[in-house]
Amino acid sequence: MIRRQCTSTCKVVPVQRKVRELARIAGWCSPTIPVVEAWLGISLEEAARMKPSTEGWQVNRWPLVERRMTRRDCLLWLARHGYPEPPRSACIGCPFHSDAQWRRLRNGDPDAWADAVAVDRAICTGFCGIRGEVYLHRSAVPLDEADLMTEADRGQLDLWSNECEGLCGV
Ligand code: SF4
Repeated sequence: MIRRQCTSTCKVVPVQRKVRELARIAGWCSPTIPVVEAWLGISLEEAARMKPSTEGWQVNRWPLVERRMTRRDCLLWLARHGYPEPPRSACIGCPFHSDAQWRRLRNGDPDAWADAVAVDRAICTGFCGIRGEVYLHRSAVPLDEADLMTEADRGQLDLWSNECEGLCGV
């Protein structure tokens, strides 16, 4: 596993930039007390991803955890209110995907799968100064050649569910 910067670069930093803009907080004179309350959409089974804000001017809250709502509760709520089932929020080529997630992508969304395979090919000779081969799938083979049998099929629990560190939220 290489160093992960995606959560920070693609989610946390842009979101914080927008929050600063909306709250009119300039870097050189940031308030020292909380003036922003951020609601992060982490469900109850993901409570391990709850993290306090790194900014003194912001406090984080997790309304789904406060209401003890699991992902399944959220899906039931959406169905009751006539909303379609949303896809999971992970990035298409997230290296934290389980085999089951990769299979769902391959079998259910050919365009997204092709996108992930193309990115996997593009990075396999290394990138951002990394010497050596880099792959999206944890078995370190090209994505379209990876064995996507699920961990459960092998009797192995998925121990990689802590994707995104819980800092980006919804
Ligand atoms: S979903 Fe995966 S690839 Fe996307 S930001 Fe989170 S850890 Fe990174």
